[in-house]
This record gives sequence, C-alpha cells and structure tokens, in this order.
Amino acid sequence: MAAAGIENPNHYVLFDIIKYDRTAGETVARHELIHGLARRIMAKINIIAFNSITSSEKTAKRFFLDFCWKNHQRFCPQCKNRKLYRLADGRRRCGRCGYTFHDFSRRFLNRCAFSAQQWLWFLKLFALDVPPAAVAEEMGVSYATVLKAADTVRRAIVAQALDAPRLYEAGIWPGPGNPQPRNEIVDAPVFGIIELGGMAICDLLPGLKAENLLHFKLNFCLKTASVGQVVYTAPYKHYMSLVSCGPGLRPARYIRHEDRRLPVEASQFWSFAKQRLRLLRGVPASHFPLYLKECELRFNSRHDDLIPVLSQALCAFVPQIPQR
Ligand SMILES: [Zn+2]
Repeated sequence: MAAAGIENPNHYVLFDIIKYDRTAGETVARHELIHGLARRIMAKINIIAFNSITSSEKTAKRFFLDFCWKNHQRFCPQCKNRKLYRLADGRRRCGRCGYTFHDFSRRFLNRCAFSAQQWLWFLKLFALDVPPAAVAEEMGVSYATVLKAADTVRRAIVAQALDAPRLYEAGIWPGPGNPQPRNEIVDAPVFGIIELGGMAICDLLPGLKAENLLHFKLNFCLKTASVGQVVYTAPYKHYMSLVSCGPGLRPARYIRHEDRRLPVEASQFWSFAKQRLRLLRGVPASHFPLYLKECELRFNSRHDDLIPVLSQALCAFVPQIPQR
C-alpha cells in the first residue's frame, strides 16, 4: 500500500516503485523492488492474453484476486484478524469482530455492480481512452454507470498516491464508506509539477491556494498560461510549474493567462498532460485533482500495461478517513 513509503516525509513514492527524494532532488525507479509476481503481471498483456483472462468470470475473478490477497491469505478487512469462518454462500465471517465479507468487500472494485469480466473490459476501454458514450454502447450499460466506473478508477489512482492524505484533507472524497465532504471545492488545490528522469510528480501543495497564484502573478509577475480551464505558471521554487483551476483564477475579465514560452512547455509530461487537460471543459474544479493524478499515472506507466496497474489500484481497500 501507498502508506509503506511514508517513513520519510521527504520521499515521494509511487506504487513503491518510483522514489523521489525532495531534499536530494532525485528520482529513483526501484524496479528491483517489484517482487516476482508483480513484475510478471505488470508486463504487457496483449489481446490474446487478455482474451484468455476474460474468457470466463472465473478466470477474470482469479486475475483480480491475485491483487487482493497476498499469497491468497485472507484477513478481516475490519480488524485484520485471520481467524475466519466460511459461510454457506461463500462469504467469510470474522471470528473476532463478526464482520461478514466477500473477497471484494470494501475495495474500489466493489463500487459498481460490475462482474470481474465487465471490470476488465471497462479497464481495457478506459486504458485506450475510448469516450464514455462509446464504452456504454460497447458494454451495453448506461452512460451513468460508465461515468461512475471511471470516477471509481480515478479515486483508486488517487488512493495510491503518497499525497493522498493531503488530497483528502483538501476535500477530495476518498470513495464509498466515507461521508461526502461537507463543503464543495470551488477552486482546485494547487499542484507543483516535477519531472525527473522521465517520471512526473504532481505534488499537492497544501500551503498554496488559487488566490496565491493570482497574487504571485499580479505582484511578482509570475508568468501564467492556460489550457482549457487549467492555469499553469512559470517555475516556482523547485517546481517546474504550479497548476490549478477554478473561478478564483479568473476573478475579472482583464486577468488573462496568456504568457508565452513558459519553461514547462518543454516538458514531455506537460505536453502529454496538456492534450488531456484541454478536453476538460465543464469539469468541476473538485474533479481536477482526479484528472491530474490520472495524467501522472498514465505518463509514469507509459511503458507498462495499464490493466495490471489500474487493477492493482482498483483492488485496494477504499481508505476510511475519520471525519474531523
Ligand atoms: Zn474482524
């Protein structure tokens, strides 16, 4: 889990594979740390292999189960106890706290009423960037279901990020089992972009708000430009750019974000992200972090197969954040 890398707050860890040291300004890809099974399943799944995984509900379920239970060792999702009773309907009951659960209880993939086969096909189409309306058509499900599934995948991606606790603190809903945030996010949080060694990091900066970006622009001539609704800036501290979106960045007509030749334009990550963010018209600012984290994951996994990467995220437990 993402929390594994938390010991050092200066380290940013993605899937425990990429480590970024804030103090040293270095990124290390720790491929040697991916254990055998994960390394095998992270390999590209071609259409033929995909076909065999999705050939039956049983094979599809087995694919997800490998991500759910390490060495098939089940435990109670509520109290982590390993002493379980099997019920006649296939579910299990905890011998200590009495919690009754099935293999996917409390995990992201339990959110939509999809079968394992449907999830796999959804992930394939999602990875290929097929538009939601076409996914609904291909899968024979409603458009609303497709949007919900996409939202679930994005929240699962967020949960894997080391700055997830900061995102939740900023008002992003972690997922089912958590109350909806009381206040709707008006302006998205501010993210700092770092690109090192071909890896991108979009780091939530809790100390900065959209209004700070505007203040830097008006009083310190920080250059700003925009793509669709998203505003981005010239370098700030060790960040290549700051990015955010929301009405607070466009308080008056005369404020424009049209500076040219910002250094971030040279970034491979940013050209990749810009193409995707350009399509974000009409997306509420509260969803911007989800799309940005999706860009980060897609860019950092561009040499890997997205299906196992997304499956791993989807099979994780939904974090339960205590209400303040
Ligand atoms: Zn229990």
